[in-house]
Amino acid sequence: MKKKPILRRKKTRLKGQSGETSRATFAGIARRLVEVGRSFYARGWVMGTSGNFSGAISQSPIRLVITSTGLDKGNLALADFLEIDEDSSVVKGKGRPSAEALLHLAIVRSRGVGAVLHTHSVWSTVLSGAHAAKGGVSVEGYEMLKGLDGVKTHQHREWLPILENSQNMEELARKVSKTLKDQPGIHGFLLREHGLYTWGSSLPEARRHVEILEFLMEVVVRARALASAT
Ligand SMILES: [Zn+2]
Repeated sequence: MKKKPILRRKKTRLKGQSGETSRATFAGIARRLVEVGRSFYARGWVMGTSGNFSGAISQSPIRLVITSTGLDKGNLALADFLEIDEDSSVVKGKGRPSAEALLHLAIVRSRGVGAVLHTHSVWSTVLSGAHAAKGGVSVEGYEMLKGLDGVKTHQHREWLPILENSQNMEELARKVSKTLKDQPGIHGFLLREHGLYTWGSSLPEARRHVEILEFLMEVVVRARALASAT
């Protein structure tokens, strides 16, 4: 007997080089990033104007919709977004991109992704400080790993590289590009005592990666604290 097709919710995606959807417009992306900001702020991942988000309008040439610098991510409006080109020059909107826009561009350039999300959570700050000397932290054995793109089993070992934090974004962007080139399997990286960067082929995927990695980082810190206390 022929199998019935599984009904799926219609996906809204930000497409890459292969073709843009009607959603991949400045306003469409900005609206969805407003919602991401509200949600992440409520979770405590982007407090005190920290973090930044971007979505790709196109890959060739690179055009990103990105949050302006220094804004409360829990209360963003469409006017708080800029469109930047591959040199981080503003081509639409009023304001200034964060210096960290260079890291978003490095990720989009290296991976051709549709969205990049950056958070400053307590767990990423603590974990990246504790494991900085090892250059990263490995996470394995957890069911939630399967929320990362391409991961099919809890036995997967995810390596989350930790880069030394810096205010020199040109240099840091070069290190990010090298890390992405050398470690093609990673889904994100940490900046030491600073926060998490992750990405996705679409904004929903990038958002899922933040949720999964934030969950896992909290689990790792709590599990190790519990183990050392008993
Ligand atoms: Zn940051």
